[in-house]
Amino acid sequence: MKKYILALDQGTTSSRAIVFDAGGRAVSASQKEFRQIYPQAGWVEHDPDEIWQSQLECALEALRLAGAAGDEVAAIGLTNQRETTIVWSALTGRPIYNAIVWQCRRTAARAEEAASGPLGRLVREKCGVEPDAYFSATKIEWILQNVPGAREAAERGELRFGTVDSWLIWKLTDGREHLMDRTNASRTMLYDIHKFEWCGELLDAFGVPRSMLPEVRPSGAGFGMTAPELFGTAIPIAAAAGDQHAALFGQCCFAPGEAKNTYGTGCFLLMNTGAEAIESKNRLITTLAATEDERPEYALEGSVFVAGAAVQWLRDEMGLISSAAESEPIARSVPDTAGVYLVPAFTGLGAPYWDAYARGTIVGITRGAGRAHIVRAALEGIAYQAADVLRAMEADTGRRLPSLRVDGGASMNAFLMQFQADILNVPVRRPGYAETTALGAAYLAGLNVGMWSGRDELRSMAASMTEFVPSMEQSRREALLDGWRAALGRALR
Ligand code: ADP
Repeated sequence: MKKYILALDQGTTSSRAIVFDAGGRAVSASQKEFRQIYPQAGWVEHDPDEIWQSQLECALEALRLAGAAGDEVAAIGLTNQRETTIVWSALTGRPIYNAIVWQCRRTAARAEEAASGPLGRLVREKCGVEPDAYFSATKIEWILQNVPGAREAAERGELRFGTVDSWLIWKLTDGREHLMDRTNASRTMLYDIHKFEWCGELLDAFGVPRSMLPEVRPSGAGFGMTAPELFGTAIPIAAAAGDQHAALFGQCCFAPGEAKNTYGTGCFLLMNTGAEAIESKNRLITTLAATEDERPEYALEGSVFVAGAAVQWLRDEMGLISSAAESEPIARSVPDTAGVYLVPAFTGLGAPYWDAYARGTIVGITRGAGRAHIVRAALEGIAYQAADVLRAMEADTGRRLPSLRVDGGASMNAFLMQFQADILNVPVRRPGYAETTALGAAYLAGLNVGMWSGRDELRSMAASMTEFVPSMEQSRREALLDGWRAALGRALR
């Protein structure tokens, strides 16, 4: 009996595996951290073998904990850290360099140069993103330029490029499949998100030979079978999607206008925009949404650099709280911030403000302002920033946000979620099951193998939600937002 779906969630700091049953409930989970390699300031790498080993070990461990045999697993759904770039030899199957991680800034100067010229326009038009070192293209270019012999081997057709999904699929199929899912492809800065093909002009511009590239498939289209020796039997790799795209799917944001926000170190916001690729007027990213079939579906994406990190700052640098969770009762101990606003622009401000030189600011301090007001202002500052991104998405799409789906560590803070609902004036819904990324990968895989009939069934299966209903008066909301805008004005350059 095929009764389980195995979700593999390959993240930036750890690999995880979760076994789901036919009701979409997690049966077991396993997690393994792996090394972060920092060869120079601003450089970040992973060892591709450690990525693979940790992922395989978790998969085996999760199956063991569930008491699930390989032949009871209907399918594998894969989700992964995005943009991270691996180049390996097709002859030996060995990586020729470490994985260059999405966070790595080594190609920042090259990306900036690309952004200012005609190449920048091409990237915006074809890929829906602003050229940045974050995406894969300049990372591949760097490897080909800096690893001895790499350029020649690439020209001879001996090298393969992949994001982490491709690498894991290659390893899982014992080198039989060189594939990439569309959502991951949409983050390479080489893939045309309107025509669904690699863009020849961009490949030329970044010096990437076509022979290095994987075949791209829709997220739920099937990515080969695992080598039988891994799990005792061959299991279909039924789906793959980038982590944020998988979370959007796992949160069942299927209709245009539906959005999710993940409150982690920063915030990752995605809004489904349906069949239409919307070009943002606020420099939000246009990206592909994960789909179970060929149908194109798009999303707008924006991020807030500092969210939960502001809470860490209160704890570690300011010593105002002893744990992240303590921020909630302390914020609730006062009725408001007494006019204090905290703009956590520690590393500049991203969407929709875009000011790399903005810096953290606390304004409105009076003699009565104390620790609780500052803690509360920090939490409110997270919600204001997310609201500003969502308002920009609404402006770009001309749609009203019906409700906001939330997940991530700081979404456990009920004060923050209520304030988010109040300031947005829309309900905030937090699913009972927090691992929405793995769940999204499992959903896509389960749809592929017929475990679930379609999106309606997924919606009906969703675990119970905690709903935060807006209860703030409009006049108060407006006054608070005015204060926030004034505070932002002080934080900007
Ligand atoms: P990441 O995946 O980015 O590491 P997580 O989703 O694990 O993030 O969330 C961790 C972040 O959430 C930390 O920055 C932490 O400060 C914050 N956080 C965790 N719990 C709370 C809480 N109860 N209230 C506010 N922030 C919290």
